[in-house]
Amino acid sequence: MSVSLRDTRSAELYARALQYLPGGVNSPVRAMRSIGRDPIFIERGEGAELTDVDGNTYIDYVCSWGPLILGHADPEVIAAITEAAAAGTTYGAPTAGEVEIAEEVSRRFPSIEMLRMTSSGTEAAMSAIRLARAATGREKLLKFAGAYHGHLDGLLAEAGSGLATAAIPSSPGVPSAATAATVIVPWNDPQALIEATEQHEFAAILAEPYPANMGLVPPADGFLELLRERATATGALLVFDEVISGFRVASGGAQELTGVIPDLTALGKIFGGGLPAAAYGGSRQLMEMIAPAGDVYQAGTLSGNPLAVAAGLTTLRRLDDAAYIRLQATTEALASGIREAAGEAGVPVDVVHTTGLFTVFFSEHPVVDYASAQRCDLELYGSWCRALLARGVYPPPSQFETWFPSLAHTPAQVEQTIEIAAAAFAEIA
Ligand SMILES: *Cc1c(COP(=O)(O)O)cnc(C)c1O
Repeated sequence: MSVSLRDTRSAELYARALQYLPGGVNSPVRAMRSIGRDPIFIERGEGAELTDVDGNTYIDYVCSWGPLILGHADPEVIAAITEAAAAGTTYGAPTAGEVEIAEEVSRRFPSIEMLRMTSSGTEAAMSAIRLARAATGREKLLKFAGAYHGHLDGLLAEAGSGLATAAIPSSPGVPSAATAATVIVPWNDPQALIEATEQHEFAAILAEPYPANMGLVPPADGFLELLRERATATGALLVFDEVISGFRVASGGAQELTGVIPDLTALGKIFGGGLPAAAYGGSRQLMEMIAPAGDVYQAGTLSGNPLAVAAGLTTLRRLDDAAYIRLQATTEALASGIREAAGEAGVPVDVVHTTGLFTVFFSEHPVVDYASAQRCDLELYGSWCRALLARGVYPPPSQFETWFPSLAHTPAQVEQTIEIAAAAFAEIA
């Protein structure tokens, strides 16, 4: 049975948005083009639920692409933001909150003895790279295919014709000079990693330790250990982009989960508790190279913004051991329920999960890297997503993104999601 959404008001706003905003949106994936529909304009969020401008409600599994681990409009976070705002929204001078959040992050991430805040994950990754280059006196970067570290020029790159060649720009407007120092290696390919580190002197080996921007593709056994080993052996810094995985897969991110400790870490998303904030950090020795302690320049008008710090700190303080046990149970229930529902409908999927993240790959084969992720049935994924939306579940509107369950998702909502997933599989089977 096919169901459809009320969308009169969304359609009207979209038509107006197209006049003033490229593609009608302020960030591409919101446009929902890859699942073959128009964007849905949102009016409000509460807990795990979203309400759109036409009055449709959804159980939300995007949660702003990761920041909202406590769900929408968490009362304690809203109170903290409100209280901070009443005292002034920004000063351009330091505050107590910045010290407290730095202490809180360092407690959870022992490798982060010091950190510097920025306003976005893109800036955090960009600045960590600058520091790695300054510290090593080298310029080249190793990046993995399918990893995303924000929209900085040097990383909007795709592999050239071989490992020996420089990456080429993956977007018009990126100068080839910007990607010439980037080398791209397939994820989970030890041989390619070893060869690349033998051929090039890297400033940084840059990785999402739990890549979640090609769908979730965890590291194969021993692969992160190999990154650490190759970085140390060749004098490169290991930089973990934990913008998604930080505070999500474990309190201390993927580095706590796996025991593989990077030299520098980028954080974002949950770190800002739903407001724009991110950070990068590492050892005192490295971080004291940053101005004004050292001479590596990096700055930001709204860095350490008091509202964002209040939201981030309030969020982090709620993330205790019990929270991760609950998040893990919620994720497991969703992953196994959806896997079973697909099996009953005869739709071949590979459901991959870790605490707080999962992806339903429309693939008959296990997804282990970007090439295998790209072989998914994107048409069928799109049909399934449209069927989910029509029934009140809001999935990531791209096969190459992950689901973000939160602490606000209740067992009843999980059960309802699995029933809706089953109905959607039945519709497309
Ligand atoms: C979202 C994301 C970024 C970029 O963060 P923005 O705040 O969107 O600039 C960087 N790295 C990873 C792994 C991300 O998921």
